[in-house]
Amino acid sequence: MTSAAAPEAIVVGGGPAGLMAAEILAGAGAAVDLYDSMPTIGRKLLMAGRGGLNLTHTEPLQAFCRRYGAQAEVVGGWLDAFSPDDLRRFASTLGIETFVGSSGRVFPTGLKASPLLRAWIGRLRAAGVRFHLRHRWIGLTADGMSCFERPDGSRHQASAGATVLAFGGASWPRLGSDGQGVAHLAAAGIAAVPFAPANCGFDVAWSPAFLARAEGQPLKSLALAFQGQTARGEIVITRYGLEGGPLYALGAALRQAIATSGRACLLLDLKPDLTTENVQARLLRRGSGSLANTLRKQLGLRGIVSALLHELVSPADRADAGRLARHIKALEVPLCGIQPLARAISSAGGIDFAEVDADLMLRRFPGLFVAGEMLDWEAPTGGYLLQAAFSSGFIAGRGAGRYLQLIQE
Ligand SMILES: Cc1cc2nc3c(=O)[nH]c(=O)nc-3n(C[C@H](O)[C@H](O)[C@H](O)COP(=O)(O)OP(=O)(O)OC[C@H]3O[C@@H](n4cnc5c(N)ncnc54)[C@H](O)[C@@H]3O)c2cc1C
Repeated sequence: MTSAAAPEAIVVGGGPAGLMAAEILAGAGAAVDLYDSMPTIGRKLLMAGRGGLNLTHTEPLQAFCRRYGAQAEVVGGWLDAFSPDDLRRFASTLGIETFVGSSGRVFPTGLKASPLLRAWIGRLRAAGVRFHLRHRWIGLTADGMSCFERPDGSRHQASAGATVLAFGGASWPRLGSDGQGVAHLAAAGIAAVPFAPANCGFDVAWSPAFLARAEGQPLKSLALAFQGQTARGEIVITRYGLEGGPLYALGAALRQAIATSGRACLLLDLKPDLTTENVQARLLRRGSGSLANTLRKQLGLRGIVSALLHELVSPADRADAGRLARHIKALEVPLCGIQPLARAISSAGGIDFAEVDADLMLRRFPGLFVAGEMLDWEAPTGGYLLQAAFSSGFIAGRGAGRYLQLIQE
């Protein structure tokens, strides 16, 4: 427990970023009050747990940092301070062991978020952190106090030596992070890039006949390409278009193209381990069988691929082995839209990095720190989102502790 005279800190937002900031501050001896607008905290973390909770990734740090695109350098600094290994050790201190799954992703052995969250809340309470739920941060008063609104409309004001805001992004708003906190900061003069969907599906105007055959079907072992970027894996055909990990990896460039011109031409390589010449040679063994049979027997491509080629390739090109081989190696899929923010796994946009110093303190509001997805970075799925949320929470918590002079260099 902290003493009554301990310097006070406020943390707003009980997601991984805010909880990590609270952890660091309480560990340094601050009396921490944590506020959240929802009746319970960590709802997005729990939702991530439904997919097994991909906490982080084991790829080398340089490659890891490149996942953050334009913000690779700044996020790299966070990872230097609180690395993927640190995150695994941290989970272990909560009694949660982790394992490395397929393609280097890291998961808790129980593949759930609830044991980690439960143990963490217990430890924070034991360290004296006080939780104030159903308190929505709605801005700062003229003298710099945090102003909260409760569900009955009543207001509460609180001040502290240092405050960490960790509102999250703006996807899945029903889980608590709805972008409103950033809007309040923007109204106070803080520059913010509008939130946009990231790690989300894209729209394709499929024909009803194709959808009847293909909706919900996976396209496996593909390579996707757009503007020189490539990603491999599996995508799924949906009612509205396409969804899946490799698509998310190309998502930022696809989103920008659609925002600029209303469309983007995604290229699918349906046989990435064969050359166009190999594919053509195998197609020439067709004989009198159907195209679907040839694709299955000669190239190991399932019926759904044949349906996709019928949907997107003209009959003349399907009948010509050379042209069909080129389509199989670079099938053009016209994307005509992007799924809405409410259905995206994460969001791009948020507080502009020009507004914060290396400790993630807002330059215009000394003592006010920001962390997590509410900052203007984005990354694909694979554990990169949670890692950056935890690491930035560490940076902001440590910065707030330094500001309170609890943490020395
Ligand atoms: C379905 C799904 C699956 C995911 N799976 C993974 C995964 O496996 N791996 C991965 O790396 N990432 C995953 N993510 C993304 C990851 O969960 C988020 O990037 C991460 O939770 C962001 O952490 P955060 O602390 O910044 O924000 P959040 O976790 O969103 O927490 C923000 C908190 O702030 C509170 N809040 C917001 N505004 C206010 C306000 N004005 N006043 C008071 N409180 C407020 C919210 O209620 C919330 O509790 C997934 C996301 C979704 C939606």
